[in-house]
This record gives sequence, structure tokens and C-alpha cells, in this order.
Amino acid sequence: MSVFSSTAFDGHEQVVFGHDPDTGLKAVIAIHSTVLGPGVGGCRMWAYGDEAAAVTDALRLSRGMTYKNAMAGLAFGGAKAVILGDARRDKTPAMMRAFGRVVDRLAGRYITAEDVGIGTEDMAQVRRQTTHVLGLADTSGDPSPFTALGVFLGIKAALAHGAGASAADDGLAGVTVAVQGLGHVGADLARRLHEAGAKLVVADIHQDAAARVARLTGARIADPATIHAEPVDVYAPCALGGVLNDRTIPEIRARIIAGAANNQLAEPRHARVLTDRGILYAPDYVINAGGVINIAVEHDAAGYDAGRATARVHGISETMARIFAEATASGRTTAEVADAMAEARIAAHAASRDASAA
Ligand code: NAD
Repeated sequence: MSVFSSTAFDGHEQVVFGHDPDTGLKAVIAIHSTVLGPGVGGCRMWAYGDEAAAVTDALRLSRGMTYKNAMAGLAFGGAKAVILGDARRDKTPAMMRAFGRVVDRLAGRYITAEDVGIGTEDMAQVRRQTTHVLGLADTSGDPSPFTALGVFLGIKAALAHGAGASAADDGLAGVTVAVQGLGHVGADLARRLHEAGAKLVVADIHQDAAARVARLTGARIADPATIHAEPVDVYAPCALGGVLNDRTIPEIRARIIAGAANNQLAEPRHARVLTDRGILYAPDYVINAGGVINIAVEHDAAGYDAGRATARVHGISETMARIFAEATASGRTTAEVADAMAEARIAAHAASRDASAA
């Protein structure tokens, strides 16, 4: 397995392998950049096919966090942790405490939080071993509702940009959205969309999750293998990454792709393929920043406040609108525009840091 020569390696500052034989913990923590501040990014637990897939995921996700935190205007760098295993079967409180000890040894260069397969109760176990954790139940709590709010606002910004939706006013009557993945974020997004009047098509590999959302929202349940191809206005990927690829893109009938999943593009070139097909893509790390924007409020001098967090998440609307407008005006893809904005902020910060150090 290669790390430095992997295509997912992007000048990462540090990659740590954590192991605890007593609990079975196998974790990879990738710190991509600490230029803007400590590397902040969630911890994912997933039954990866092999160890190389876990390393690749950690490398890709941590890079995404650097861009996400930069675009959200946060004083955080980018990092991410993955734990190898099935969260429903293998996770134990002791394993999460062992993970907390691995995080603690990084002395604040990495600050962890929830991601796929990991909830606030797990972070409470991590907190017993380290202070370098955000998103605890008694502070900012579960970030997913804020992520879902940001995605909801991003969908509205995309509709307002006029990419072929049947209605783009304040409500979502007449708009159909396909939500893929009905976990913490997808289920809450579905609820918000339903309350705003949208029609829903939903899918999850766990039938119980799909049935629950369908019961609450009247959604039609689709096959998880083909939900991307549903005849809808908006396709909202809220499961795992890599869903926009050579196989799926030709089958997508939505005019807008706007969802919470990280690393939706299988490869950067797929952004151009989407643009050429006339599909408006909301860059994932911009639209899904609501959760990290929320947990960053814990670092405010005045302490955490949900109202302040909500107000900041609303900033996603404006950022999305700017990206869509610039992409349309310049002929660049939305992903290129977002990357350039994030890189400009990081470069400006590094330059001012170097100038004050000289
Ligand atoms: P979660 O684990 O709560 O939910 C994920 C859901 O997707 C699960 O119900 C799972 O069964 C389902 N799923 C997995 N593979 C699927 C497939 N092939 N088809 C359909 N469903 C599938 O995770 P979450 O916290 O809701 O996060 C969802 C996505 O959003 C992830 O990519 C995550 O990285 C990203 N994200 C989450 C947050 C957050 O605040 N939780 C923030 C930013 C980004």
C-alpha cells in the first residue's frame, strides 16, 4: 500500500496509524493542513473493503476539510479520522476511548468530531481521554441538523440560480428531490424539504431507515442502486462519496446535484463532465459545511450559542450564489471556482503569517 505516492496524497502534513489490540481499534488520522489552524474534521467508522481504501478515504476527506474550513471562513485547518470496522457491529465505548487516546497524542494538531457511523455518545467516550474534541452533547451537540440546514439552503440557492427547476421561490412546491442516504443528515434534510413542500424520492441501504423517512414525509422509496437516475429536479447525495462517476453521470436526470456527502466527485474531472451535461453541481465541501460551522462556534470567546451558529450557517446561501454566478460568468466549473476561492484564502493567510515571521 502506498501513501506518499498515492493519487489521494496531496502534500499532507502528517498521517497517523492508531492501533489498540485490546479493543480492536484500527484508525487512520490524516492531517492535510494546519495553515489556517488546528486540523478539524470528523471521525468516520466504516467497513472498508481493505486497508488501502481506508487510507485513501482519510487522505481525500482530510484534504476536503482543508477546503471546507477555508471556504467557511473558519480558523481551522483540515484533517479527518477513519476507524476501520462496521459501526453497527464492531464499535464499543472502549474502542472509542482508545481512539481518544490516539487523538490526544497529537496534542491538538487534530480536533475530532462526528461523521458517518459516529454519534455524540461516541464523542462523549472520546472526551474522557482528550479535550481535542468538538460536537459534544452538552456543547454544540450533533452537527448533522446544521449540515442538513446548510444543504437545504444550498438547494434553494441552486434552484434560485435557475438551473431548470420547476419552481424556485421561497417554498419548494413543485420541486422533486431524490435523497440518497437517510442517516443523520439525509433524514433531517428530507424532513426540511418535506416541510417546505418538496416531493421526495428516498433510498438507503438500510430499509428501516428508508421506511421511517417515507412514513414521516410521504416519500416514495427508490432502489439505492438507481436513485441517482430518478427523474427529479434535484439529486441530493447524502450517503458516501464517489457517487458522481463515469457510470452514474450519464444516467443522472436531475438538473441540480446538491447534497451532504463528502467527495461526491469520483475524480476532479467529473466536475467538467457535469457542467458539459448542463447539470449544476453544488461543491460538496461548501454546501455541507453547516456542521463544522456550528461546532466552530464552540471556540467563540462568548461560548457556544445555537442562534449564532444558525445565523452563520445561513451564510452558505450567499457563498453558493457567488460560486454559481462566477462559474456561469467565467465558464469554469463550480468546483474550480470553489477550489480557487479556498486556495486564495489559504495562500493569503500563509503569506501574512510568513510576513509577520520575517
Ligand atoms: P450517517 O452514517 O448517519 O448516514 C449515512 C446513511 O447513508 C446511512 O443511513 C447509510 O445506511 C446510508 N448509505 C450508505 N451507503 C449507501 C448507499 N450506497 N445508498 C444509499 N444509502 C447509503 O452519516 P451522516 O452523518 O448522515 O453523513 C452523510 C454524508 O454527509 C457523509 O458523506 C458525511 O461525510 C457527510 N457529512 C456529514 C456531516 C454531518 O454533520 N454529519 C457533515 C458534513 C458532511
